Amino acid sequence: MEIIEVNTKSRPSRVYCGEGAFAELGACVGGKEAFVVTDTNVQRLYGEQIARALPGAPVCAVPAGERHKNEKTLFKIFDAMLAAGVHRSAVLVALGGGVVGDMGGLAAALYMRGIRVVQVPTTLLAQVDSSVGGKTAIDYGGVKNVVGAFWQPDTVLCDPLFLHTLPPREIRCGLGEILKTGLLDAAVGEKLWASRGRLHDLAFLSEIAADCVRFKARVVAEDETEKSGVRKCLNLGHTTGHALELAYGRRSHGEYVLIGMWLESFIAEREGVCSPEHAQYVRDTVRLALPRIPAFRGARDCVRYALLDKKNSEKGAVSVLLSAGKGEYAERILPAARYADYLGILEERA
Ligand code: ADP
Ligand code: ZN
Repeated sequence: MEIIEVNTKSRPSRVYCGEGAFAELGACVGGKEAFVVTDTNVQRLYGEQIARALPGAPVCAVPAGERHKNEKTLFKIFDAMLAAGVHRSAVLVALGGGVVGDMGGLAAALYMRGIRVVQVPTTLLAQVDSSVGGKTAIDYGGVKNVVGAFWQPDTVLCDPLFLHTLPPREIRCGLGEILKTGLLDAAVGEKLWASRGRLHDLAFLSEIAADCVRFKARVVAEDETEKSGVRKCLNLGHTTGHALELAYGRRSHGEYVLIGMWLESFIAEREGVCSPEHAQYVRDTVRLALPRIPAFRGARDCVRYALLDKKNSEKGAVSVLLSAGKGEYAERILPAARYADYLGILEERA
């Protein structure tokens, strides 16, 4: 097991990566009162382990899925916390995938103006990405993650123990963010290519997850609240990915990020941000996890969703983060019509 420090200004956190991380939960809570937020699936799979790690702690199991990441569920968590008489000195343990991490984190940020939170990510996506960095949110008014806060966990426990029960779709989802990291960090990219035959092997995934956490810890430490722009790099593939996700649903977030990076490689090439060779490298990297890029009927219309993105700074224009070379990136602000034409590439495949 490895311990990675995330040195953010608001509150430094530690990420335990590897086998044995979950066994540290009791010690992390440190004898304080604990309140567990999880979802019904994770409760069914790991309820006993939770009870053993935190005997007597109240558990609030919310319904699983992004569609429940809303104000209703958030306030149900508050109801449960009040009913259990949770104090300000308590520690909220968010144990589950990205949805639980986002909502549990936000509940911790708001309850009595903020209580400590320990994140125990149980999906590959949450282990490599969402549990580190302190972003918490719910979706509201049809906009993803629009109501939220930066709230750093004191500890994140990434244990491969949880990965054994993940369906292949969830593994592919995590691979989306792992391959994204591979485009942002040349060493991670090389490792992924060198081990491309092992991308579904849990031992390898748990090793590369630690590399992704180390990378993200560096980025987040430099730019905790996405102010200086350094943290923007983590949005690679996400402008298009989020727009497609909102319009079409069904596939996982990570898959949409992969499709987003694939499409944005054409934008980067045509906008003169990268060489044709690098654009091809991006597409080949995406194909390591997603051999066939699906077609999307009516993809041009997704520009509506891209225009809603919080990252946009100009009216009527879409901000896209592009891979400019190995480990390099650049932001471009495209007029809506031009961005819509690029989206058309996804229709041509239909
Ligand atoms: P993500 O982490 O991909 O953002 P979710 O929090 O929505 O997404 O989790 C995805 C799904 O996987 C949910 O249905 C959740 O209940 C389930 N899940 C979470 N962790 C595990 C696990 N370790 N094994 C099996 N299923 C899990
Ligand atoms: Zn993402």
